[in-house]
Amino acid sequence: MNLGACGKYPGMEDDMERRKGINNDDLKKRNRGLILQLIAAGEANTRMSLTRKSGLTKMSVTNIIDEFLEKNLVHEGEKEYQEVQGRNPATLEISPKAPKIIGLLINREYLAAVLCDFQLHVQKKKRISFSKDAKEMFLPHIFELVDEMLAGEENVLGIGVASIGPLDVEKGVILNPPRFHGIKNVQIKDILQEKYGFPVFLDHPYNSAARAEKLFGYGRNVSSFAFVGITNGIGAGIYVDGKILQSPGGLGSELGHMSIDYHGIQCECGNRGCVENYASVNVICDKAEAALGRKVDFAECCALYREPAIDRILSDAVEKLCVCLVSVVNLINPEVIFMGHESVELPDCYMERMEQIINERKLSTEYSKVRVMKASFGKEQQLVGAVCNVLNPLFSGKMLL
Ligand SMILES: [Zn+2]
Repeated sequence: MNLGACGKYPGMEDDMERRKGINNDDLKKRNRGLILQLIAAGEANTRMSLTRKSGLTKMSVTNIIDEFLEKNLVHEGEKEYQEVQGRNPATLEISPKAPKIIGLLINREYLAAVLCDFQLHVQKKKRISFSKDAKEMFLPHIFELVDEMLAGEENVLGIGVASIGPLDVEKGVILNPPRFHGIKNVQIKDILQEKYGFPVFLDHPYNSAARAEKLFGYGRNVSSFAFVGITNGIGAGIYVDGKILQSPGGLGSELGHMSIDYHGIQCECGNRGCVENYASVNVICDKAEAALGRKVDFAECCALYREPAIDRILSDAVEKLCVCLVSVVNLINPEVIFMGHESVELPDCYMERMEQIINERKLSTEYSKVRVMKASFGKEQQLVGAVCNVLNPLFSGKMLL
């Protein structure tokens, strides 16, 4: 597969694009990317439905599909059953011969890698936890993970990296994450591109997770949404009007450091009353331990929600989270808030309560309703999201020639 010039700045590229004209070549690439995305995301699988969904002419779709068949990006699957008489149309599927993509997740506690196809189906997965020699072993562990994903694969398109920040997303540099084993200023994009020869794209874990929701999840047909992830911290990836919110300042959308009480708990960031001091997983588990007299992890805590003491703890955390989510809603007017990472363990009744509180308190309640629902890919969303950092430019046509 041919690779074009690629990778400036996921999310910012749309803004830059708006300021310049679209030449014929760019338009052709964009159309091909769109057709590939529609097939990969399962939105259309016949020439006819692709024509309808893409708004392109029948002839354009036929030409693009012929090219994809020749390049082994798609293949013809089963004939689709049709009640009306006549020739049944062949369905189009992503070919097993199409390239694969590596996703790499860099966390404070561990490194993880995944190999996926264009449909985000996981083919391989591996995780390495950090130990005492985290700094020395950082790059060797990353190479070990990538090598393992590459083993036996002839056709890999690129590597998407989701890493804790601050980051220079454009240059692909992990700057100076706090409490990160002394690891800083890692030119991860250049290092991986030089060693493996693939294009590499870097972004924040929560942005990556939001991208998975946008490309393959319930977020496909939603133009403005917030993906909110709860772990030992709280973070967000935000889409506004179809574009991911990306700041060049190095930080992601640091929802956890939104204050809900200016007299509140002193946060390590310097602010007071940051919501992650009240609603993150470790805080909830500490309170549950005090109530139950024994240690529980978050999944167990959620499973015990019928116990009044645990319900009070979960309800209190959810209420406090809603204080900051109402502000998010008033600021960006999302249609949906997707709750991800460990919060997918929360029983549905808490999702319903959050939806109710947010809609009661936000502005313009009578005009629109915000939905609160669990994210599509559970706890793996950041990892498969890393893959989407490559699929996003591919589906925009930027990696197709
Ligand atoms: Zn803070």
